[in-house]
Amino acid sequence: MSTPITAVHNRWTRILINMLWIILGILIAGQLLTYVSKSLLESSFSSQQYLIHYMLLPDTILVSLLTVLECIMRKMGRYADHALFAVANIMGMVITLFIHLSVTAAPLIMILPLLVSTLMLNRRYLLLSALIGIVFSSTLIMLQKESFAMTGLIIINGSILLCTAISGFGVILRGQELIDSLEKSTNSEKDLLIRNALMDRTTKIDPLTNLYNHKTYHEYMEKLLVHSGDNPYHLQLAVIDIDNFKSVNDTYGHATGDIALKSVAQRIQEHIGPDDFAARYGGEEFVIILTGGDSDKAFEHVEKIRESVAATAIPELDGRMITISIGLHECLPGETKEQAFQMADNGLYAAKKSGKNRTVVQ
Ligand code: GH3
Ligand code: MG
Ligand code: MG
Repeated sequence: MSTPITAVHNRWTRILINMLWIILGILIAGQLLTYVSKSLLESSFSSQQYLIHYMLLPDTILVSLLTVLECIMRKMGRYADHALFAVANIMGMVITLFIHLSVTAAPLIMILPLLVSTLMLNRRYLLLSALIGIVFSSTLIMLQKESFAMTGLIIINGSILLCTAISGFGVILRGQELIDSLEKSTNSEKDLLIRNALMDRTTKIDPLTNLYNHKTYHEYMEKLLVHSGDNPYHLQLAVIDIDNFKSVNDTYGHATGDIALKSVAQRIQEHIGPDDFAARYGGEEFVIILTGGDSDKAFEHVEKIRESVAATAIPELDGRMITISIGLHECLPGETKEQAFQMADNGLYAAKKSGKNRTVVQ
């Protein structure tokens, strides 16, 4: 998977290649303009020689170079940087050699690879481009000029290329600094997100049972009642209490009582539907909000949970089972969450009264 930094790098490689195409476009426009004006104004102008030597030959080389670069970028992405560096340098040399031969400042076109290396934020490429530029332009000047003019031009050209390279180094250092600080802030932003998510979870989840906690139940129930008021749908509330739990604690101790609590929570978690919500209301009491169907279906559902709890032998209780009682209530339009809870709690009370280990719909 590409990181944001790699994505930015790839985007810049693309931009730089596009830049080289634009430079080629401008060059061709300039060649055409020169060709037309020379044909009109200079009677001795050899149009065929100009077309072949100054246009067709260099443009074919440049178009081929950029096409190869495009292929490398697409098919062998990891060599794209090297290829871009090489093409920028060769392009500078081709333009210098074929097109501006007579202009004394022509070697300055070798600034092009320096700029490309700078924008690539690559110090090695910049150093290499500076060396190539200085050696190439000096050689070219030496081949063209007499000794006096030659020394001056070499010094001027070399100094300009060197100054550009030094400025480029400054830009690269600054860019690197920005990338480092961007990387740091991206990482701390990510850490903060993870921490927030974990904190969010710890404020919502009961640590013993891993079900939602009391506070989250109230928030969710409140929201659901408002929502179901606008778009009526089945909404049932089940209040669950473990039977004779005091005696579990008294006989086996609080820690074993906790294990039994977790076991009940697991049974609830296993049997609730994807749209249902289960929370530990407090102590050894749980609530389930069901939205998956009518009250008959909800009854069947909570009965499955009750039967599953009653059938689970808990090794820590010497293989004994525990049971739960359930009060179930179908929420009515306009009911508050307190009223709904009271009704379900009445059902629970009735279940306890009538012998425990059962569900009473209220
Ligand atoms: P009933 O069938 O009528 O519900 O009887 P009961 O013994 O379960 O009575 P009640 O519900 O009033 O008892 C609740 C007990 O649950 C009291 C307390 O010791 C125990 N309890 C509450 N919270 C926890 C807890 O987090 N861990 C443990 N181990 N016990 C708890
Ligand atoms: Mg209780
Ligand atoms: Mg109890």
